[in-house]
Amino acid sequence: MIKRPMPPTNDLRPLMAAPEIHEWLHATILNPDHEWFNEDHRHLMEYSVTEIAFMWAQSEYVKAGKQVLGQCEKVMMMAGGWKKTRQEMWFEDTLGDVPEYLVTLDANYCRDCTDAEFAALVEHEIYHMRHKPDMFGDPSFKADGRPQLELIAHDVEEFFGVVRRYGGDEAVRRMAELQDCEPQIKY
Ligand SMILES: [Zn+2]
Repeated sequence: MIKRPMPPTNDLRPLMAAPEIHEWLHATILNPDHEWFNEDHRHLMEYSVTEIAFMWAQSEYVKAGKQVLGQCEKVMMMAGGWKKTRQEMWFEDTLGDVPEYLVTLDANYCRDCTDAEFAALVEHEIYHMRHKPDMFGDPSFKADGRPQLELIAHDVEEFFGVVRRYGGDEAVRRMAELQDCEPQIKY
């Protein structure tokens, strides 16, 4: 059993690079020889630790009344000139390079959650990075032959009350069907 990465407990800084999450991911969920391998993320396999970077966040992040446990973002420089240089420097100093995508996880949650909860959180975040389809709906590739990625929103984003009163849309119905099946991953 491969032990899951744990957030650091000393020398704490508000945000800390977590290349160990990338390593764990490649040893388990992105590893075709591992029982947790998930075919859905195959397009992420050739991306390096400096391209899809992970970080631990030490502080709690509450957004619109909900605690955010993880966040996946496409890294964009919202500035030019020296501001852009400064932002790039921060990434290079912290992560070794400017990543294409950055996944930040709540360190306190990750310290206390179960292995299954941790894996579910990481998978949730990496599901946000989809293999980008071209205009015909076929998978698209970069000049170097690797899959083109894009950031996508959740399959299901709805309130319980709305589903209770009105029923769910296609995505919610699909989710309910899957909920009735045995989970593929058992701990
Ligand atoms: Zn999400």
